[in-house]
Amino acid sequence: MYEQATSEQIEVLNPADGSTVGSVEVASPERVAEVVARVRANQAEWEALGNEGRYRWLGKLRDWLFDNHERVLDTMQAETGKVRGDTSAETVYLTDLINFYGKKAEKFIGDETVRPHSALSASKKLMVHYRPYPVVGVISPWNFPLALALGDAIPALQAGAAVVVKPSEFTPLGLDEIVAAWKTEIGAPDVFDCVHGTGEAGGALVDNVDFVQFTGSDRTGRKVMARAAETLTPVSLELGGKDPMIVLDDADIDRAANAATWGGMFNSGQVCLSVERIYVEEPAYDEFVAKLTKEVGALRQGADGRKPAKDVGAMTSPNQTAVVKAQVEDAIAKGARAATGGKAVEGPGDYFEPTVLVDVDHSMDVMRDETFGPVVCVMKVRDAEQALHHANDTRYGLAATVFGEKGRAEALGRRIEAGAVNVNDVIVNYVLMDVPMGGWKESGVGFRHGEYGIKKYCRPGSLIVSRFGGKREPTWYPYTKARHGLVGRIARMFNARDWRRRLGLRPR
Ligand code: NAD
Repeated sequence: MYEQATSEQIEVLNPADGSTVGSVEVASPERVAEVVARVRANQAEWEALGNEGRYRWLGKLRDWLFDNHERVLDTMQAETGKVRGDTSAETVYLTDLINFYGKKAEKFIGDETVRPHSALSASKKLMVHYRPYPVVGVISPWNFPLALALGDAIPALQAGAAVVVKPSEFTPLGLDEIVAAWKTEIGAPDVFDCVHGTGEAGGALVDNVDFVQFTGSDRTGRKVMARAAETLTPVSLELGGKDPMIVLDDADIDRAANAATWGGMFNSGQVCLSVERIYVEEPAYDEFVAKLTKEVGALRQGADGRKPAKDVGAMTSPNQTAVVKAQVEDAIAKGARAATGGKAVEGPGDYFEPTVLVDVDHSMDVMRDETFGPVVCVMKVRDAEQALHHANDTRYGLAATVFGEKGRAEALGRRIEAGAVNVNDVIVNYVLMDVPMGGWKESGVGFRHGEYGIKKYCRPGSLIVSRFGGKREPTWYPYTKARHGLVGRIARMFNARDWRRRLGLRPR
């Protein structure tokens, strides 16, 4: 959805109708290095503000997001082709996230005093302090252009890092507006910026920062990790998914079908946590498929304005439409059937019909590769064990959903190989920021949210203070027989777990 108008500009198009909505300047690798160096120079002062001082500035950003809410959503809608109903989730999440990390920062990254585990070390005062990586680089995708860019910048800024974001080339405008507001309308310290471009700008960012937070496809994630290895820069990768939903025969089928509809079609299925594969126990299968097909078939697709009037919006990236189309065609050629939908929609705009595929199996691409479009696939299974087997038969492991009687569903959910499992709900783990969110297997490296979601932007520093001591420790020079023997006797006394060994006697 971008075109290079000149070698230095990216033109941003509205996927709902193809119109031009704006443009941004592409940053050369030299320009990326300059921006990183500039915010790096201001980072120490930002860190010195402390958790409270930084929260005060981030609180002003939260207030700005409230005060400019409609404007922010207008830009997002124009560059993504989302329906209005899909846009508001991002600002709700971001404002909550600012408050969450602002309030919890001291608990999560404040100084810690650690009690030595052994009386042998009682003469030392042990402390851990958390110092941020000076500059964090955030590389983000187009599906949630603010939540996945600003959302990862917020805990890094709260931790005391300076942050440079490289947003997706398809959706750079919203973040650009927010960075401009941070600098001018809010007047905050110059520790937060963005650079634009494609893989070249992203690669240059990786080369210059001290920590990389990447969200995108596993294909690009591998390149980012390989590039970061050149400079031994740590990375956190939030990658794709192929999330399963299991519907047990004792589930509330209405709730399960409604959840599958929203979980599969929200944001036109362009959600890493989208429901893509559904396994239904045999006794519930017919009822579930009938209800799901009716719900999905009734969705209103198209563009709306500020007033929510449609359910499913456009495909944000034309490359993605081609992937979805190819997967659906492959499935149908191998025997699947579209219970509803199944085709790309003729223009204007870039749309794919909300689709339910049945008679699918794991030989089809649509059951193995990430679809990232408004398509859900339903498969009948003999029992819960077979459902579990299929759910885990994937290289991905982002999240999963189980519908059924609470106890049974939870027990099954614990056995799914994924970073999060929602029982009788869907996608909700993303906004429950108290708990970690991240992928297992090829869905990622590292986690966001919770305590780890801010600690990862810091390096723990251990501080050891000797409370008392003589002119020398028994382990220092000079080595003598007497001191060697003393150290051995002390170690035995403290570390042996039976009296004979403590006293230097042979065990019986
Ligand atoms: P993508 O991998 O194509 O691009 C992501 C970002 O990486 C973009 O900003 C892009 O310009 C940049 N990039 C491309 N090549 C690069 C390179 N060589 N070096 C550095 N940066 C480079 O992903 P996308 O199509 O924008 O997003 C869709 C993908 O994101 C899906 O796979 C989806 O599942 C995933 N995703 C994951 C999460 C999560 O939290 N796990 C959330 C949303 C989306």
